[in-house]
Amino acid sequence: MSIFIEYIVRLLNFIAPKQCVVCGKRLTISEDVICAVCNLHMPRTLFSKNPYENKMAKLFWGQIKIEKAAALFFYEPHSEMSRIILSLKYFNHPETGELMGRMLAEEIRQDGFFDGIDLIIPIPLTKKRQRERGYNQSMEIARGINEITKIKIVGNAVKRKSFKQSQTKMNRWQRQDNVKDVFSIDKEHDLDGKHILLIDDVVTSGSTIISCAQKISAHYNNIKFSVLSLGFTKN
Ligand SMILES: [Zn+2]
Repeated sequence: MSIFIEYIVRLLNFIAPKQCVVCGKRLTISEDVICAVCNLHMPRTLFSKNPYENKMAKLFWGQIKIEKAAALFFYEPHSEMSRIILSLKYFNHPETGELMGRMLAEEIRQDGFFDGIDLIIPIPLTKKRQRERGYNQSMEIARGINEITKIKIVGNAVKRKSFKQSQTKMNRWQRQDNVKDVFSIDKEHDLDGKHILLIDDVVTSGSTIISCAQKISAHYNNIKFSVLSLGFTKN
């Protein structure tokens, strides 16, 4: 964003009161992104209460060296809660990611979810997609998590080479094939023996995470992974 546009956006936020991204209700000063009522009705997964053995963690069993997995809410396309993800990915609201990341981190750190994690790697977008969107939503979520936990973000360890085709209509196996080899190592970091937290906006089949994690594991020694996302697709 140019400095001028950024200034206009800030000005608009100042003049126009912020609204709940889910129900559209005007937010009070103490509310961020979603109102207290929508927050109360959010279909929380509570996976962080059982981080080693939940539906999400099981997606990764036998695929990568998985430790913990958690997501804030159950995601259903076209549901009211899906507006959080729409706002973040398609309506140019990177701050939704940061604020939701903070909220998520604050909720699950009490469960000890972040204990033992050395660093955060947000799942990257392709260069083209990031240019179009202007930001990487997973990085924005990671930023919010970093503000609460102070765990370092490494944003350039992996890059995404190509995006073959949209995954929305594919089954789990087709998805896995579609994302195979789309990640590659970007900059070298001292990652041997580290416990890495991978961040994505929504986890569905887990295939994107698996592909990214496998690439990192193939390059470094003795890596462990945990996975965290805002949404976990219920199916
Ligand atoms: Zn609301």
